[in-house]
Amino acid sequence: MFVRELLESVHALKGAGPAVCKKLAKLGIFTVADILLYPPRDYEDRTVRRLIACHAEGPVNCEVIITAHEWFGFGRMKTLKLHAQDLSGSRAVLVCFNRPFMENGFPEGSRANLFGRLEYKYGELQSAAFELEAIVADPDSSQGSFRTGTLPVYPLTEGISQGVLRKLSERALANWGKVDDEIPAQFIAARKLAGKTQALKDLHHPATPADAAQARRALAYEELFYLQIMILKRSIERRKDGLQRKAVDISLAKVLEARLPFTLTADQEKTLEEIATDMASPWPMARLLQGDVGSGKTLVAFMAALFAVAGGGQAALLAPTELLARQHADNAARLLEPLGIRLAYLSGNVSDSSRKPLLSALARGDIDIAVGTHALFSADVVYKNLRFVIVDEQHRFGVLQRIALGAKGNKPDMLMMSATPIPRTLALTAFGDLSVSTIRTMPEGRKEIITHLARQGNEERVYDFVRRELKAGNRAYFVYPLVENSDKLELKNAEAMFSHLQKTVFPEYAGGLIHSRLPEERKRDTMSAFSCGVIRFLVATSVVEVGVDVPEATCMVIEHAERFGLAALHQLRGRVGRSSRQSYCFLVWSEKLGDDAKRRVMAMKETTDGFKISEEDLRIRGPGDITGTSQAGALRLTFCDPVRDAELLEAAREDAGALLREDPELQSIAGSLVRSVLERASPFAEKTAGTG
Ligand code: ADP
Ligand code: MG
Repeated sequence: MFVRELLESVHALKGAGPAVCKKLAKLGIFTVADILLYPPRDYEDRTVRRLIACHAEGPVNCEVIITAHEWFGFGRMKTLKLHAQDLSGSRAVLVCFNRPFMENGFPEGSRANLFGRLEYKYGELQSAAFELEAIVADPDSSQGSFRTGTLPVYPLTEGISQGVLRKLSERALANWGKVDDEIPAQFIAARKLAGKTQALKDLHHPATPADAAQARRALAYEELFYLQIMILKRSIERRKDGLQRKAVDISLAKVLEARLPFTLTADQEKTLEEIATDMASPWPMARLLQGDVGSGKTLVAFMAALFAVAGGGQAALLAPTELLARQHADNAARLLEPLGIRLAYLSGNVSDSSRKPLLSALARGDIDIAVGTHALFSADVVYKNLRFVIVDEQHRFGVLQRIALGAKGNKPDMLMMSATPIPRTLALTAFGDLSVSTIRTMPEGRKEIITHLARQGNEERVYDFVRRELKAGNRAYFVYPLVENSDKLELKNAEAMFSHLQKTVFPEYAGGLIHSRLPEERKRDTMSAFSCGVIRFLVATSVVEVGVDVPEATCMVIEHAERFGLAALHQLRGRVGRSSRQSYCFLVWSEKLGDDAKRRVMAMKETTDGFKISEEDLRIRGPGDITGTSQAGALRLTFCDPVRDAELLEAAREDAGALLREDPELQSIAGSLVRSVLERASPFAEKTAGTG
């Protein structure tokens, strides 16, 4: 029997009546399998004994004597207090809310094991959430849920206590805990994994924290193994019907390159070679191009699009926001129109009258490259011969959207770009089916951005600094967390700060305001005024986060920096440092800086390496939030953490590859099981479907 086949209701377990079952459902626990696979969020090490006097260091874990009973409150609210004293004579009060029955279990003078956090309340050291187990002469007759050793700590819901989950998982283990391994025996042995039965036991009832870690490792491997099989199978499918393709025609791209005022970086060249190789191979390209902000991905994308155009095809460049799409269209016009490339710009805001002729030109093949927002794959958009699709800021799009665009062509080559660098491990997990190109080096002559932290109250000094930069002919961004005044939050907002900065701080320079509530037209005009220098400073919300490219900007001031996530801060900072001028980023933070916020701004201060930043980001937000890293790449992984489990991931990938080579149809090894898991995992499968 495999654990996933244990589909009996949890109701089958003693202690899980209808009321409890209803609450368990809220935790996603319906079956015995669900409870056996319900992951503790932590473990409590009860091997550490701690006397009452040391309660500040952690939960108290010691033997006590009950010295007195006391009642307070009236009627149904009547509550018992147990006065306890440990062997060194320290005292504490245990408040037994809703536990009047403890009166009989723990008479005065009785001895018990106590576990719980204590704190001073109403002048006494007390606890309301504690566990107490009577010490009786014959330990085997003990009925309490108190355990020593290493205890699981589960995520809870109202009305379900740790005790209930511990009891239920233990009963499930006792009755159903013997299960078969799913991973082929040779891999279990080679990777020194715990068997499934052992892993389940140690997940819920480990003797030591190390055993719990071993259990988690085995379960994480299993998850990664399934995931890799799924990804590799998809990749095999993509390579089933080969296309007949010749070497790409690089002539147009060469013309563009010759016109550039700079030379390509080595990484840009290497990426272009990789793309050219993909485009000549029998299978459609599926490549992720990751490079830090400002590393020059867009140019690579344009040149690659020219490969496709030179071969007689059309290309489409999809951007997540109108602002960014517009900017790409302007750049394309500047760089590509002189080569005779025919461009079109499509967004939701293009009027019907200009849209119609565009659509028919696209359908006739009179447009070579279409740039735009998701309007590029609206139902009425038809391409004559869409051969190349570029998705900028790919993590902003859902997989289905990417597939919809791909479906407009006949297996077009796909280039996905990400300026939020994905750690290699995560890329392998989420996009295992993609090839990855990385631009590591910045264009020559770039200087590392200098980041300063400033406490709110000192912002005048920051403004003085910015004034000097403006005087030197440079431009500046100011970013705020809110658009306008909010009753609920005492935060600076873009609108008020725009008028303050314009009227009082920099009256001698023209400024502009940009945020999401302004009409697209206004945003575009403001952006181009900033871009050509008519406007010298730009006050904004995080709308400028993505892709905006104004090389003359040298200052990025982010106020209430504590309100921004690490990835957003990094993106914002990437708006400066886009030329050979020295650039600066100021993070102005207010007094209320929580632990995580402190780690975020410190990480920003310490490094400008986007890869390190995104790993730190994952570390701060924790594995549970990997789902949150992107709406699109969302993975529901329970036990594994692609950052921490990097080695395990590589192992699973290798093993899955070996297995598929040996046995492409998965006929052996619990073959039907793997298939059924993969089929049942469809939401998960869809979300990881990289490329369609
Ligand atoms: P990304 O999309 O990776 O954030 P961009 O493509 O917007 O970066 O490039 C940032 C800036 O660097 C642009 O102004 C671009 O023209 C310029 N650039 C691109 N490649 C080079 C290069 N090899 N040398 C100098 N400047 C470059
Ligand atoms: Mg970009």
